[in-house]
Amino acid sequence: MLQLFIPLGFLGIVYRQIKYALADMDLVFKLLERRPEIQDRTEARPLVLSEGAIRFEQVDFHYQPERPILHGIDFAIEPGQKLAVVGHSGAGKSTLSRLLFRFYEVTGGRILIDGQDIRDVTQESLRAAIGIVPQDTVLFNESIYYNLAYGRPDASRAEIERAAEMAHIRTFIESLPDGWNTVVGERGLKLSGGEKQRVAIARAILKRPRILIFDEATSSLDSHTEQAIQQTLAEVAENHTTLVIAHRLSTVVDADRILVLEQGRIREQGRHRELLEAGGHYAAMWELQLREGAETGVDFDPRLEPS
Ligand code: ADP
Ligand code: MG
Repeated sequence: MLQLFIPLGFLGIVYRQIKYALADMDLVFKLLERRPEIQDRTEARPLVLSEGAIRFEQVDFHYQPERPILHGIDFAIEPGQKLAVVGHSGAGKSTLSRLLFRFYEVTGGRILIDGQDIRDVTQESLRAAIGIVPQDTVLFNESIYYNLAYGRPDASRAEIERAAEMAHIRTFIESLPDGWNTVVGERGLKLSGGEKQRVAIARAILKRPRILIFDEATSSLDSHTEQAIQQTLAEVAENHTTLVIAHRLSTVVDADRILVLEQGRIREQGRHRELLEAGGHYAAMWELQLREGAETGVDFDPRLEPS
């Protein structure tokens, strides 16, 4: 046991250092996972984005061949609709978003955006089309202005202020003694989980992507903050094709479709009401969450997520 604990603890420290040193998810993935570099095909063209329709067709995936992770994942998100994915920790939820962003290649099947296989388009154009609000937003040790502008470095001051306003963080920023010049991050002002998430939302607003991925934070935010964030997201997600990896009841209820993922397979799918009526796995999770304190927004799985 001891032998197992030491390396894990060490990895935790390294992980944290990398995580705080970099605010770029892409880089974090690169460093942490030493995945094979994905190359654009020589004939790769820019993604032609029309409405932002997403389709997973019989997608299989493994990180290592001996351990399959996803099996025959098949679903579509219509333009402007919201798909929620629920399931226990380790089910493969975050992997779905990594595949859509093409951090990894599918090992079977294909993923289409507006009818184009994402392997046939340039990674740059693909990533420009998608905004991710991650589970744990990483900040630079820089001004809050810089941290927001990171969403689109050529944005004007007015656009940045507007994004902050939409993300319900402008008032907070302007109430700080140093306002927009306040240095945040490890060596500056430490923002709460909810504040960091709003920074990420503001970045996504600035980027104005057609497609949004939201990997909800598992940490329990106070219910006031949670409600403010939910409302913000609903506003931002309007007219965007949205993939939400959901931990809270409130997000799932209004989704156009919910997928229940279990060990890399879609177990159930439908709208909230349909799934409750079906009385299956989802209904059981729902019951459990209600009993365990929905009012505090407890996760489907109380264990900490690995990623
Ligand atoms: P979820 O988001 O549902 O908690 P993930 O998609 O993060 O689950 O992970 C699904 C499975 O894939 C887990 O068993 C996890 O341990 C494994 N996994 C995730 N990332 C990697 C990786 N880079 N290499 C190997 N296995 C991984
Ligand atoms: Mg996850």
